[in-house]
Amino acid sequence: METTICGIATGYGQNGISVIRISGPESEKILKKIFRFKSSKYTEFNPRYMHYGYIFNEDQVLDEVLSVFMPAPNTYTGEDVCEIHCHGGTMPVKKILDLCVKEGCQLAGRGEFTKRAFLNGKLDLPKAESIMDIINSEYEESYNLALQGIKGEFSKAIRAIRDRLKDIRINMIVNIEYPEEDIEEIVYNDLKKQLISIKEDLKSLSDTYDRGKIIKDGIKVSIIGKPNVGKSSLMNIIAGEERAIVTKIEGTTRDIISERVILGGLLVELVDTAGIREASDEIEKIGINKSKEAIEASDVILFIMDGSKSLEKEDLELIDLLKDKLVIPVLNKSDLDLKVEGKLPFTMNPVKTSFKENIGIEELEKRISETFTSDFIGSKDTLMISNERHKELVDKSIVHIEDSITLVDNMEVLDLIEVDINESYSLLGEIIGENISDDILKEVFQKFCLGK
Ligand code: GDP
Repeated sequence: METTICGIATGYGQNGISVIRISGPESEKILKKIFRFKSSKYTEFNPRYMHYGYIFNEDQVLDEVLSVFMPAPNTYTGEDVCEIHCHGGTMPVKKILDLCVKEGCQLAGRGEFTKRAFLNGKLDLPKAESIMDIINSEYEESYNLALQGIKGEFSKAIRAIRDRLKDIRINMIVNIEYPEEDIEEIVYNDLKKQLISIKEDLKSLSDTYDRGKIIKDGIKVSIIGKPNVGKSSLMNIIAGEERAIVTKIEGTTRDIISERVILGGLLVELVDTAGIREASDEIEKIGINKSKEAIEASDVILFIMDGSKSLEKEDLELIDLLKDKLVIPVLNKSDLDLKVEGKLPFTMNPVKTSFKENIGIEELEKRISETFTSDFIGSKDTLMISNERHKELVDKSIVHIEDSITLVDNMEVLDLIEVDINESYSLLGEIIGENISDDILKEVFQKFCLGK
């Protein structure tokens, strides 16, 4: 029998209210044991009705709450679900959760409520994944993208392609069973046309991944430059702006600090590499390696130079690392006499700034956002892939379609061609969660937060 789980549905800490959710066959029984109605009018829960009362641990009141019982199957998980709305605070939540566990609940793991919803057919896998994306979305574009998944548009597109593959298979089976020599060529020509069209549709979907990923995760812009050119000053300016939406996060590397801002409608993660180069030779070497790593992981580089001095060996060494990258050159300290002369080895013209006097910042931000224009973002309705798992499966399924096209070209027997078409069909099925292994399910829901 399925266990009954409990978890906090709202955030930890101090809130107006906190919601504890219970899901599973024993939900109502457990709630009945711990809840006492305030009004003597009630002795049973009225389904989907908020009841006012108290949570009791034996004779001790734990909190004053509102409780609701929602019977299966019309609930989030598809199981019997109860909610206890208690006063928002660490202690009431802890006490009530402990009590639920004492009465037979298990504490829910990450994403366990949503996993149950999936297993009970309340939602498909892309929708479950989009729920997490919507929770994580921090700005308009990524929110819109997650909404596509919530509305089921992505699943719909995948299902439509699968249906076409299914039709092809049905026709093939008919032809395998009742082969007629004279229609053979028509069958192959027709098959090829349909497979090419499916391949193209999958390919267009797969091609949206770069955009989708950038919208979801933002672009990474690294600030590179030798010591004292003004990297930290730029970070401070940007961090001080209203647009700096998100909390400071320590980068993976100790010295690298990043700041997230919205520029031109895109989430931009600005990574400051200040301090990665130090005086001694050995450390300097490590510094270069760290710069390399930061450069490698970036979509755009802001290369800061001290415009009041001629370029030095260190600048040139760094420039050398930037060859294959999209670089926005910045000549800082323009409040002093500009000394950098001659042509710089960059495709783009440099932006002249003074971080000391707040000059050129807007231009710099404009340049960053222009590197990923609104054309790149696409309209709110463009269907996009932003999930790596989906992208991988679409790509694998394209390979099988391509293989099947080659077989068709060689007029191989239909049974053989069908193997690839079947494979492509089941790979697309994995996207929406059909015949998926427990390991993959575990992996997907592991990314969820507790209580979801
Ligand atoms: P970083 O080592 O690249 O992070 O450089 P910092 O941001 O720490 O700046 C080094 C020094 O240059 C500090 O004393 C800053 O005040 C100064 N500085 C930064 N930007 C400017 C600027 O535009 N003009 C002038 N005159 N000084 C600046």
